[in-house]
Amino acid sequence: RSPPGLQRVDAGPGDTNWLTGRTYSKRFFEILKSRRKLPCWQKRQEAVDMVQKHQSSVLIGETGSGKTTQVPQFLLAEFGSGKIAVTQPRRVAAMSVASRVAQEMDVELGQEVGYLIRFEDMTSESTRLKYMTDGMLLRECQTDPLMSQYSVIILDEAHERTLSTDILFGLLKEVLQRRPELRCLVMSATLEAEKFQEYWSGAPLLRIPGRMFPVETFFTLRPEKDYLAAAVETCCLINVHEGPGDILCFLCGEEEIEKACAEIEGRAEETGKNTLVLPLYSSLPMNQQRRVFPPAPEGARKIIVATNIAETSLTIDGVVFVVDPGLFKQMLYNPRTHVESLLVSPISKASAMQRAGRAGRTRPGKCFRLYTLETFEKELPESTYPEIIRSNLSAVVISLKKLGVDDIVHFDFMEPPSPEAMMRALEMLHFLGAIDDEGDLTDVGSRMADFPVDPHLSRTIIAASERACLTEVLAIIAMLSVPPPFSRPRYAQKAADRAHKHFASGYGDHLSLLNAFQAYVSSGSKTQFCQENFLSERNMKQAENVRKQLASIARKAKLEDASGEMLTHSIRRAFIEGFFMQCAHLDESGKHYLTVRDQQMVAIHPSSFLQHKPEWVLYHETVVTDRCYMRNATTIPPEMLIEASPKFYHPERCKLHEHARKILRRALPRVKS
Ligand code: ADP
Ligand code: MG
Repeated sequence: RSPPGLQRVDAGPGDTNWLTGRTYSKRFFEILKSRRKLPCWQKRQEAVDMVQKHQSSVLIGETGSGKTTQVPQFLLAEFGSGKIAVTQPRRVAAMSVASRVAQEMDVELGQEVGYLIRFEDMTSESTRLKYMTDGMLLRECQTDPLMSQYSVIILDEAHERTLSTDILFGLLKEVLQRRPELRCLVMSATLEAEKFQEYWSGAPLLRIPGRMFPVETFFTLRPEKDYLAAAVETCCLINVHEGPGDILCFLCGEEEIEKACAEIEGRAEETGKNTLVLPLYSSLPMNQQRRVFPPAPEGARKIIVATNIAETSLTIDGVVFVVDPGLFKQMLYNPRTHVESLLVSPISKASAMQRAGRAGRTRPGKCFRLYTLETFEKELPESTYPEIIRSNLSAVVISLKKLGVDDIVHFDFMEPPSPEAMMRALEMLHFLGAIDDEGDLTDVGSRMADFPVDPHLSRTIIAASERACLTEVLAIIAMLSVPPPFSRPRYAQKAADRAHKHFASGYGDHLSLLNAFQAYVSSGSKTQFCQENFLSERNMKQAENVRKQLASIARKAKLEDASGEMLTHSIRRAFIEGFFMQCAHLDESGKHYLTVRDQQMVAIHPSSFLQHKPEWVLYHETVVTDRCYMRNATTIPPEMLIEASPKFYHPERCKLHEHARKILRRALPRVKS
C-alpha cells in the first residue's frame, strides 16, 4: 500500500517506505511520533498548496518548527518526481540536517537523501533530496544554468543574506521565467517578509505559528572586560543555582569554545554536579557534532558551547538557559585596504532576540546577556548587513561572468554592492588577467572559475600547471585552506617547535607547508606521524582531502602537470602569478614591512618558519590582532617580481614606494627577460 501525494509522509504499521519499498524500521515510527508534533506538520497541506500554485513563495516559522527537516519531505512526497535542492549557508547545517532527514525517512545518507558541500559530495544517482551549501548550487549553475535537474529549489535561512544566496536570488528570478514548471521557496525564521515578497514580485507568504514560552532576559550592569571568562562563570553559576534544563552558551570560535568547555567541565567536577559539556562548531567531526542532540541522561544537565551555528541553523531541544556574550565572528572585507579578516564583532538586535528565543522552546526560560542594556539599545545594529555589501567581490564577479551574466552592473541584486567595491573587484580580475580590457572573461579567467577558491589561488593554480609544479602547488593550497596544521600544546611547546623545524624551508612558509604535507603523505602510520610531529591529524586529513578534490577538478579541466627541475623556483613563481598584489618589502629602517598595494605597515606572523627578514615577501593573508600580521609568508627574490609583472614591479615604470624601487633597481641586472 503506497498512499498518494502528501499522505506519503505519514505512515502506520504495515506500510512500506514509499521511496525504497522497504519495510519501515522501528526507529522510523519513533521519530515520526515526534515529527507529527512539529508546528510545520499542522500547515503541511497549506505549504504544498502554496508552492504548487505559485512559482515563488515565502515561508516563515520559528527556529525548530520543522522548516528545514519537514517541508522538503512534504514537497518531495507531493511532487512525486524530480529532485529538490535545499540550500544552507553553512556546511555543518547541510551535513547535519541531511543526516537527520535520512534517519527520518529511513534511508541511508547519500542515497535518497544526501548533501553536497565544498570538497565533499555525499550524493548519488538515487538522490532526490539534496541539502547543499548555497555556494555549491551556484557552482552547479555554471554547467547547468537552468538548474534543470531540480523541480523545486528551496533557499533556506534566507535572512542570513549570504553572498551566494543573494546571487542565487538574481539568477533564479531569470530561470523561473524560462522554466514555468520550476518552483522556488524562500524560508527563514526571521525575515523582513515584505522586502522579500516585493523582490519576488508579490510572492505569497505562509507563517507557521510558533509555540514560544516567555524568556526572562538579564543584562549585566557594567560592560564585561573578558567575555570568555564571564561566559564560563555564568554557565557555572547557572549550573549550580538554577533548576533543571540545558544551557546553550554562544562563543566565537573553535579555540575559545574548547577552552571554555575545559574550564566549565573542571569546575562542574568540583561541584559534583552531573554535567555533560559539549562543544559545537563547524570544524568539529560529524560524530562529535551529533552528540549535542540526544537528551542528557536522567538527572544530568547538558551545557552546549556553540558558535552562532546554534542561533538559527541547528535546533537543540531541551535548552532552557542561554548565555549570550553578544559577539560573533564575521568575515569583514575592507575594499580600501583589501584586508579580509575574521573579526569578532557585535551581533545585531535581531540575532540577540533569536539567541534569547532558543531558551523558550520547551518551557519558560532565561537568557543572560553579558552586556548592558545600554549597549543593546545603542550599540547593536538592527540586523546584520548582507554579506554582499561587505565582501571581496572578485570571486563573485568571476563566477557571474562564467554563469554568462555579462552586465554585472545591472544584475538584479536584492541589494546591489557599492560601485566602488565592484570597480575594485573588476580591477583586481583585470590585473590577474581573468578579464580583458572589454571586461570579458579571458581563457585564463574561464579556467580559473572552475576552481572553488579565491581568484588569487585559482590564478596560482593555472600558473602552476604552466610551470610544471601543479602537484606541489595544489598540496600547498590545500594546506593553506585548512586551519593551521602545526599544533603547539602548552605543555610541550619546545618539543613541538623542535619537531616543526624538520619541515622548515629557508624560503618560508609555503614551502614549509609543502614539506609537512609530503612527509605526512609518505609516512607509514599517519596517526603516529602526526603525534610525533605535533601536527593536527584532523587538519592534515582535511588538507589531503582538499588536495584530492582540487586535483580531480584539475584533471577534469585537463590542466597539464609534470614535475620539473627547479621546483622551489617554479612554485614561488606560480604563487607570484596569483599573489603579486600581496607582497611586501622591508622599509628603510629594516624593521617593518610595507604592503605594495597600500603601503600598510605589517609584520611577519610569529608562527612563521622564516628565520630572518627577507627584503621581499609574498603573503597568503593578513590577520589583524594586536597588529597587522602577514600569515604564511615566503621570501621572493625581487627580480622574480619584475619578471612576473613588469607593470607592477619595474622600478622605472611602477608606482611603488621610493625605497621599494631602490631595492628593485638593484635587482634589475638579474632579470631574465
Ligand atoms: P527549523 O528549520 O524550522 O529551524 P528543523 O527542521 O531544523 O527546524 O528542526 C525541527 C525539529 O527537529 C527540531 O526542533 C528538533 O526537535 C528536531 N531535530 C532537528 N535536527 C535534529 C537532530 N540532528 N537530532 C535530533 N533532533 C533533531
Ligand atoms: Mg532550519
